[in-house]
Amino acid sequence: MFDSAATTKPLPMIDPFGRSIDYLRVSVTDRCDFRCVYCMSENMAFLPKKDLLTLEELDRLCSAFIAKGVRKLRLTGGEPLVRKDVMTLFRSLSRHLDRGALDELTVTTNGSQLARHAADLAACGVRRINVSLDTLDPAKFRAVTRWGDLDAVLRGIDAALAAGIHVKINAVALRGVNEAEIEGLVAWAHGKGMDISFIEVMPLGDIEPSRLEQYLPLSLVRARLAERWTLSESEHRTGGPARYVEVAETGGRIGFITPMTHNFCESCNRVRITCTGTLYMCLGQDDAADLRAPLRASEADDLLSDAIDRAIARKPRGHDFVIDRRTRQPAVSRHMSMTGG
Ligand code: SAM
Ligand code: SF4
Repeated sequence: MFDSAATTKPLPMIDPFGRSIDYLRVSVTDRCDFRCVYCMSENMAFLPKKDLLTLEELDRLCSAFIAKGVRKLRLTGGEPLVRKDVMTLFRSLSRHLDRGALDELTVTTNGSQLARHAADLAACGVRRINVSLDTLDPAKFRAVTRWGDLDAVLRGIDAALAAGIHVKINAVALRGVNEAEIEGLVAWAHGKGMDISFIEVMPLGDIEPSRLEQYLPLSLVRARLAERWTLSESEHRTGGPARYVEVAETGGRIGFITPMTHNFCESCNRVRITCTGTLYMCLGQDDAADLRAPLRASEADDLLSDAIDRAIARKPRGHDFVIDRRTRQPAVSRHMSMTGG
């Protein structure tokens, strides 16, 4: 559907609760070179490569959403930058930025491959990225990621900053792991001109350690930060679930993403696609729509477009995450790396 005033600008898709859906997150691979303890088990079984959409199919799928009003696209995973030739996808998607159909092309990455891709990302029009980093202690970093090398990530962050990309750090708040380091992380990030957001552990996918052991409510984190710094509520919004405060002493921002203690579903503007072309309308619900079949059934996009409309028409009101002491079951069995965080 097109706006009559601006013939090239499609109207956003509207879900049953009146929310505009203009943000698509695409998991381009379920694979990763890390095994973060809250995200994956050590022995993850990954999808056979033949089940993955090709880069051309991912481009077609993203382009179909852009034609339906999506204005912001985030590539994620798994680790998006480990997918072979992924820069080809960034390069081809950047045409939507050039022609003004897309406001933002971005990526969430663990930073391990960033040093070699940062300049190319900037050349593709990527202006802001999220890098996940939970600790600045090399031994803890190795323990949390199981396989990661902190130095490589820090080099990647510096390369991104040098390429003129704005970096936001995402850190999962982990009880007994980075709890004592929260202020240090904020001081480091703000010192480099980066915003930082903290995330509560979400009950996604079966992993070995108990979520109860990992879970650290952000209300505690915030209270602790407020003892050291002057925090004031910020009007800053990115259309996402983070709520921001400004730190008077550093001039930087801290975001809090609190799926467990505060529900943010009323303003949800996003849907997610897996690397096999399954569309999830909510991170915390199981209902999904297969877009691979309509994508492959025809070279024209009519079937695909209809399937997207039918899926958006059943986007649920929200999730109901609980870390349950009795059942100890995850709220959904999918790992975050599958749906794309
Ligand atoms: N590999 C990339 C990365 O780590 O940034 C992108 C994918 S990762 C699944 C996206 C984000 O999800 C990361 O910031 C990670 O910390 C977060 N994440 C993964 N599992 C989570 C969980 N169970 N609860 C909260 N955040 C989680
Ligand atoms: Fe990999 Fe990201 Fe999951 Fe860590 S959080 S295991 S880096 S997908």
